[in-house]
Amino acid sequence: MARLEIDWTRCDGHGLCATLLGGDVALDEWGFPVLKGREITAGEVPDARRAVLACPALALRLDKTVKGY
Ligand code: SF4
Repeated sequence: MARLEIDWTRCDGHGLCATLLGGDVALDEWGFPVLKGREITAGEVPDARRAVLACPALALRLDKTVKGY
């Protein structure tokens, strides 16, 4: 299992992560992401990785404390 994290010093509120990972990320009223705090299962990791790579501000990442992710 893994978790998403956001580097708030980088996030520009593009909202792409919420589009790609609607089950895990919502947007607040200003368009900034709100993580739902759910653990990312092994089957969801490929989609989560794609979202991490797609973040234009390099602000989204998977928790690297979990071995194998
Ligand atoms: S895609 Fe990246 S920059 Fe855009 S809201 Fe999500 S974390 Fe922030």
